[in-house]
Amino acid sequence: MGRNLGSSCRQCRREGEKLFLKGTRCFTHKCAVDRREYAPGQHGAKRPKLSNFGLQLREKQKVKRIYGLLERQFRNYFNNAAKTKGVTGTILLQSLERRLDSVLYQMGFGTSRAEARQMVSHGFVHVNGHRVNIASYLVRPNDEIELKFQNTGLKNVKENLEATQGRTLPAWLSVDKDHFKGKILRLPQREDIVYPVNEQLIVELYSR
Ligand code: SF4
Repeated sequence: MGRNLGSSCRQCRREGEKLFLKGTRCFTHKCAVDRREYAPGQHGAKRPKLSNFGLQLREKQKVKRIYGLLERQFRNYFNNAAKTKGVTGTILLQSLERRLDSVLYQMGFGTSRAEARQMVSHGFVHVNGHRVNIASYLVRPNDEIELKFQNTGLKNVKENLEATQGRTLPAWLSVDKDHFKGKILRLPQREDIVYPVNEQLIVELYSR
């Protein structure tokens, strides 16, 4: 699957806020957003006032980058959300949150979504007893997730759980850290999505 190979910190600096793409580093003094509060590139120091289109574009780019998606993948999520009954922006965010890599990240098994995605592609993750190696797998209520290791991986996950101890677990998930298991209690609601996003701007952008 394609992915963005550019610098993660550069993406945060472009959006002007922390997107938490690099795990534990994001919480240290090494965070590039804290150290250089301007956009990357030769003219980065001048942040021009954005037009409506600019605001919509930046909001879309921000969400796309948080979940580590490429344009076409993100567009597919939007198209599916637009076809589904309900509020398009909320359904879009809900489907992104339901991705298996995002769920593992939120459960604390990975320090970043990218790391969680790697755990899935390496075959460590089982859903309802079956191995799933597709990071975009959408979880459903009552799905049971379990991490299974052979020789590698266990030490890393233990360290990750330690590092993510202070992270708040969303109310739609439950975790049994001792047994490397988790459960989907219900679908995520809009209020469960806590990072600052105005999804209406994304809907407006794609409705142009
Ligand atoms: Fe973004 Fe994390 Fe890099 Fe900071 S350290 S700029 S939050 S990816």
